[in-house]
Amino acid sequence: MTAFGPELPRFAELAPGVRRLLAPNPSMMTGPGTNTYLFGVAEIAVVDPGPDIDEHIDRIIETAGAPIRWVLATHTHPDHSPGAMSLAARTGAQVVGRPAPDHGPQDRTYRPARILNDGDMLETGEFTLEAVHTPGHASNHLCYRHAGTNWLVTGDQVIDGSTVVINPPDGDMKDYIDSLRRLRTLNCAALLPGHGDRIDDPVRAIDWIIDHRLEREARVLAALKQHPGLSARNLVPHVYQDVAEHLFRLAERSLLAHLLKLQRDGIAVMRQDTWSATHERE
Ligand SMILES: [Zn+2]
Repeated sequence: MTAFGPELPRFAELAPGVRRLLAPNPSMMTGPGTNTYLFGVAEIAVVDPGPDIDEHIDRIIETAGAPIRWVLATHTHPDHSPGAMSLAARTGAQVVGRPAPDHGPQDRTYRPARILNDGDMLETGEFTLEAVHTPGHASNHLCYRHAGTNWLVTGDQVIDGSTVVINPPDGDMKDYIDSLRRLRTLNCAALLPGHGDRIDDPVRAIDWIIDHRLEREARVLAALKQHPGLSARNLVPHVYQDVAEHLFRLAERSLLAHLLKLQRDGIAVMRQDTWSATHERE
């Protein structure tokens, strides 16, 4: 895991009708905190209200300065969506997005009145947001493309200056890389990540992530060939020599995500919780 970039301002106007607020929840996992985006001037769509913190919900309402029509979430991890229902209750906004999946730490309070599928549009006279379903980090993950700027809100699919955790079974490395490849083809002008600053060179950022994941995958495969028949836990030190031991638990989740991808690719097999490379590929 690399370090996040410099601290972000609490408020930024990124373009006319595109504003960003930083939620007060900085941590190792959230970097400077969760980014909340506001689209529109006369009518507002709020993307990722963040955790349910009164002070932050107040700031969203003050900053909006106009009726909030929609509250959207990119996904239902606890740092992205729990403010949605409070914000909707206080403003009458409609909650839209995809409900929490069964596995992992999810915000189960999030109850969208309208479920968004890939390609669905939210339109006002002022702006259009298009939902892009990007499973991988979370199975219900959506990105949102803002038509006017051709910028894409990426939630935790792409974040600035760090990598995200892919935690099976809801997190899926193969889906994650497939979603990155798809985002690459959208030719967006910039990415608005869930954590960190705007990314002005999307293809370069996406390629960096794909390369980084495939490099790690190559190390997983090399370790499988050298040490066949180990459990994921016992493989961790062979794959993550560069990671401090207190992070091994987290690394084990990522390793499992890589192993499951290799299994789906037909390159690895699991027998009684131990892993080996398939022989065809040796
Ligand atoms: Zn997340």
